[in-house]
Amino acid sequence: MTSAFNNMKKQLNKAFSKIKITESEKEVLSKPKETLEVNFPIRLDNGEIKVFTGYRSHYNNSRGPTKGGIRFHPDVSKDEVEALAAWMTWKSAVVNIPFGGGKGGVIINPRDFSKFELERISRGYIRAIHDFIGPDKDIPAPDVYTNPQIMSWMMDEYNHIKGKHIPHMITGKPVGVGGSHGRGDATAKGGYYILLSAIKKLGLDKKGLKVAVQGFGNAGSFLAQMLYDEGMKIVAVSDSKGAIFSEQGLNPHKALEYKSKNKGLAGFDSTKEITNRELLELDVDVLVPAALENQITQENADNIKANIVLELANGPTTPEADEILFKKNILLIPDILANAGGVTVSYYEWVQNRAGEYWDIDTVYAKLEKVMNNGFEAVYAIKEKEKVDTRTAAYIVAVTRVLDAIRSRHM
Ligand code: NAD
Repeated sequence: MTSAFNNMKKQLNKAFSKIKITESEKEVLSKPKETLEVNFPIRLDNGEIKVFTGYRSHYNNSRGPTKGGIRFHPDVSKDEVEALAAWMTWKSAVVNIPFGGGKGGVIINPRDFSKFELERISRGYIRAIHDFIGPDKDIPAPDVYTNPQIMSWMMDEYNHIKGKHIPHMITGKPVGVGGSHGRGDATAKGGYYILLSAIKKLGLDKKGLKVAVQGFGNAGSFLAQMLYDEGMKIVAVSDSKGAIFSEQGLNPHKALEYKSKNKGLAGFDSTKEITNRELLELDVDVLVPAALENQITQENADNIKANIVLELANGPTTPEADEILFKKNILLIPDILANAGGVTVSYYEWVQNRAGEYWDIDTVYAKLEKVMNNGFEAVYAIKEKEKVDTRTAAYIVAVTRVLDAIRSRHM
C-alpha cells in the first residue's frame, strides 16, 4: 500500500531543492508536530460496547492554529492523517490564510452504523480529543463521510464539556448553529474559480469542454453541477460503487437526485456503467479526481488523456505519476491549490463566529474568488519563473510562507 505520508515528503523534497533552506529547517517541516491516537468505547444500539480508534494530528502551527477535517473511513491510519495534516499546512499557506495544518479521522465505515450510533461515535471522539483541539489551537471541519450534522454534534459535545458556547471550535456547521453561507459547496466553488483561470491561461473555450469527475460527494457533485451550468459537458461521474458514462453528456443535478433516491448512480438516464479506473482514462478535456488518494499512479498515468487534471481530492496522484503527467504536458492543478476553497470558507466561518456576524453568500463568494485567483496567480508565476510543474510551484509558494513564519518567530 502506497504511503500517503511518503508521497507528501517526496513532493516536499522537490520544493526544498528549489529554495534556500537549512537542514534543520527541512527536518522541522518534514515531521508532524504531534499526533494523538485515541481508543474510545461506544455503546451500540444492540447494547454491546465497541471500541473505536481515532487520530488527530497537528502538523505545523507557525502561521496560526492548526486546521483540518475529520474523516470517517475504514482506511483511516496514522500515516494518512499525518499526510493530510501536512497537506493542510501547505494548503492554508498557498492561499495565504492564517492557519497551520491539522487533520483527524476515525477508523469506521459509517454505513455499518445507525444515525444514533454515529451521533454517539462523533461525541465520543470529541470527548477523547477535546483537550487537543480548540478555537485558538486546532479547529476541525468535515472531510470524507462526515458532514454538517456531525459537526453540529461535535460542537454540542465540546460546548457541554467546556460549559459555554464556542461555535468557532469547529467549522462546516449547519448555518443555524453558526455555519457560513457558502461552506457547503466551498471546495467545489474554489476549484471552479481555479479551473476557469486555468482554462483562460490555456486559451481554451469553456463551452463544450468534456469533463469526467471521480467521486460524486461533497466536493465532486457540486463541481460537476457548476461546470454543467457553465456549458461544459459532464461525460462521466462516479462513486465508490462505480462510474456512469454518457458520450452526449449527463445532467449532474438530475444524477444527484437519482443517486439519493436509488442509493447509487447505476441505471441513471441512458448512461453506461464503467469502472472508476476506466473513468480516469476517458478521452476528456478535464479530469477531476474528487474521491480518495493514490488514484493516478505509474500504472495508469500514461493513459490519462485530459489536458487539465483538477485535484479536488487530497493526494490523488502519486509522485511517479506526477512526472509522467508533466512529461505529457498535462496541466495538473494540485490539491493544495485546487481544493483550498473549503478551508478558505472555513476560515470565513471562524472569523464570522468570532465577530458574531453573518455574511451573505455574495460576500463569501466574492472574497473566495479573490483568494483563489491570488493563489493561482502566485503559483503560476513561480511555475513559469522556475520552469517546474504546478505542484512543485505550489509547494514553493507554501513552504516559503511557512518558513517565513518560522524564521520570524525563532531568528
Ligand atoms: P464525500 O464523503 O462527500 O464524498 C466522497 C465521494 O467519493 C463519494 O461519492 C464516494 O462514494 C466516493 N468514493 C469513495 N471511494 C471511492 C473510490 N474508491 N472510487 C471512486 N469514488 C469513491 O467526501 P468529500 O468531502 O467530497 O471529499 C472528497 C475528497 O475531497 C477527499 O479527498 C477530501 O479530502 C477532499 N476534500 C474535501 C473537502 C471538503 O470540504 N469536503 C475539502 C478539501 C478536500
